Amino acid sequence: MGQGLSCGERLENGLFRAVQNGDLELVETMVKADPTILQQTTPRSRMSALHIAAAYGQIEILSLLLDRSMNPDVLNRNKQTPLMLATMNGKISCVQRLIEAGANILMFDSLNRRTCLHYAAYYGHSDCLEAIISAAHSAPVAATWGFIRYVNIRDGRGATPLHIAARRRQPQCIQILLANGALVCALTCAYGYPGSSPLHLAARSGSLECVRELLAWGAERLQVDSAGRIPYTVAMKRKNRACAALLNPSAAEPLVWPSKLKFINELNQEAKALLERALVEANMEREKAILKENSYSPPCPLQSDADLDDAESEECDLELCCICFEQACTLEVHPCGHQMCAHCTLALCCYKKPNSSSNCPTAPLCPFCRSSITQLLVARIKVTDNAESEINSSKLRRSRKSNFSEGSSSFKSLSALGSFGKIGGHSTGRFPVECDEEVDKSF
Ligand SMILES: [Zn+2]
Ligand SMILES: [Zn+2]
Repeated sequence: MGQGLSCGERLENGLFRAVQNGDLELVETMVKADPTILQQTTPRSRMSALHIAAAYGQIEILSLLLDRSMNPDVLNRNKQTPLMLATMNGKISCVQRLIEAGANILMFDSLNRRTCLHYAAYYGHSDCLEAIISAAHSAPVAATWGFIRYVNIRDGRGATPLHIAARRRQPQCIQILLANGALVCALTCAYGYPGSSPLHLAARSGSLECVRELLAWGAERLQVDSAGRIPYTVAMKRKNRACAALLNPSAAEPLVWPSKLKFINELNQEAKALLERALVEANMEREKAILKENSYSPPCPLQSDADLDDAESEECDLELCCICFEQACTLEVHPCGHQMCAHCTLALCCYKKPNSSSNCPTAPLCPFCRSSITQLLVARIKVTDNAESEINSSKLRRSRKSNFSEGSSSFKSLSALGSFGKIGGHSTGRFPVECDEEVDKSF
């Protein structure tokens, strides 16, 4: 159904019905017979044919209308553009086509002063969100407003797209927004509305996934809202007890993505996926322990761990990491060329938790040779003729336990981080698709 098409508005007019039904031939005939027909709007919400094509994902008709030089930013009664309607309904091909046709991503509607980016976050259409964000890199928006300002654009109530995604329980959108510079600790701020951080809103909505995502990006558990409450209090008040357990300031600190390290921001997609996955896995282990302590059954993603375990070990045609002796060496430190697993790499980077007061935290050193790390790359894999036997022979021996004892090596800091050595090749359901693909490509 068309979100944003006002309820019960009947498309009596033949043109609008034809557009809604995707009857390209009929629309073409009607427009040929009377080109002015395109100026018609629906009686109540003043939708144009372009709005309707966008809302119903009728890409062919949408293209026809745009080719007939229909204004891509035509407004309905609520000053919504066709791009907003396509976004609300998750019609990605229409979103892309409208952006190609020059649709303005910086238009505000008159309902809540929201942009298409707010709508993408609200309805959780992460593909549309990504398309809009990538348009913001090139569009005049980047030049006039600045990209980061656009990603943190506020609606009439002072909510950024990140606030909206947190309140609407959209973890995937949260992840994309944070990876693109959304401010994790911004408070909603508009006159007359209480100020909350995204973490407060996630605590309120009770989405464990959103809470997890925000914490992993450095959201502060001790930040207070305009009423002086921390997110934990909000979660308790709403009886979201699992969220509250993670938000409890006395629970173990989560690992935070080391976004301030220069080489982390310069990671290629492949290496980034490996590290992101390691972060999720490490935090899942921590979460498991916290929830167990609070006697909650673990959330669904954890239950599928066992099934994925085998599949993953088969793809690891790599040397074992010399720090944990558990995981395969998937990353290579540059310039020295030493290799280790993603979990150990992450532990190394997160050990010095980025301090918000310093912009350039000290880069960690390679644990093998103590040289500074300037770059992380995915470890190259030797391809052999007989791939199958190679995979079988080099299957990781999971029974082999870490044998370095605490304090006996220079890796004390790593073992102090706890669960890294114990995490198997668990998949968390968050990044598996990207990760598996990335790994496959390198074979
Ligand atoms: Zn390791
Ligand atoms: Zn080294």
